[in-house]
Amino acid sequence: MSLGHVVVVGGGNTAMDAARVALRAGAKSSTLVYRRTKKYMPADAEELELAVADGVRFLELVSPVEQKNGTLLCKRMKLGEPDASGRRVPVETGETVEINCDTVVSAVGEQVDTQFLTDNGIKLDNIGCPAFITNLEGVFCGGDVRRGPATVVECIADAQGFANQVLKTFRTSVNFPKDARSSREEAVAKRGILCESAKCEGERCLSCNVVCESCADVCPNRANISIEMPDGRREILHVDRMCNECGNCAVFCPYDSAPYREKFTLFHSKEDFDETEGNSGFLPLGGRKVLVRLGGEVFEADLDGENALPKDIECVVLTVFSRYGYLMG
Ligand code: SF4
Ligand code: SF4
Repeated sequence: MSLGHVVVVGGGNTAMDAARVALRAGAKSSTLVYRRTKKYMPADAEELELAVADGVRFLELVSPVEQKNGTLLCKRMKLGEPDASGRRVPVETGETVEINCDTVVSAVGEQVDTQFLTDNGIKLDNIGCPAFITNLEGVFCGGDVRRGPATVVECIADAQGFANQVLKTFRTSVNFPKDARSSREEAVAKRGILCESAKCEGERCLSCNVVCESCADVCPNRANISIEMPDGRREILHVDRMCNECGNCAVFCPYDSAPYREKFTLFHSKEDFDETEGNSGFLPLGGRKVLVRLGGEVFEADLDGENALPKDIECVVLTVFSRYGYLMG
């Protein structure tokens, strides 16, 4: 069978594999269509690079509607505001595009078929059963049924939680061998990158405030703001013009960091931006454009178009625009 022109729908690792395999299987072309941009594809960067190297074409911001007569009709999309997951929502533009397409491969993830559960009187709400228990005594649930598609690591973690819940429910205990669990120190030693006393490194350490928000609490000038992200997490934003560099936040930071120099910073003038050159941060330029400094590199970014912002940073900037606009005034 000739595959002809193949279009793979999706942006995960499976989609990358399918698109690459299509070329190896003799497809005339292999195009991957995705309704957001590459930056938001859930695929690992390495998988994406391998697909590009193999000659897979990428068509971003399109959403398939119908395939017939050798073409795939797609809606053109644009990026909207971030959703609860922090990814920008694809929004229809009203335009369409047609792509050469003889074979469509769907790689957009799977839903759990819950009919089996319903037939057996097991109820799940839309986030699944908390604590691995169900409405039926002695019936537990875990894995995809409970949380939806996830990684192998989360699956392994679920298995442990699941086992603990079963043991707790039946009041059974197990004597684990002493060496079955590593200590906190052993775990940290194994993972060099978890060096606890390392400095907060701006964009790399966006979420240090999972541990604390001390720098926001102790600042007498309210120059460190704890902002709420669309997914409910909080990030610390440093507001340059409010800071008089008293150093208080550096004294209280448990990570031996100087938050006023290392947290992602909102600037109000080009002069301040240039002066405080150690800080990663952004300066609103008017409209939806910002000047950004990240890892020492300075560049302009258009929040309504393609830009070079990493998605976490872009989400912080968009959140400031949408929820904390008063800070920019
Ligand atoms: S005090 Fe330090 S660790 Fe705590 S949120 Fe601020 S920068 Fe992060
Ligand atoms: S150095 Fe700046 S951010 Fe830190 S406590 Fe002082 S005024 Fe606040």
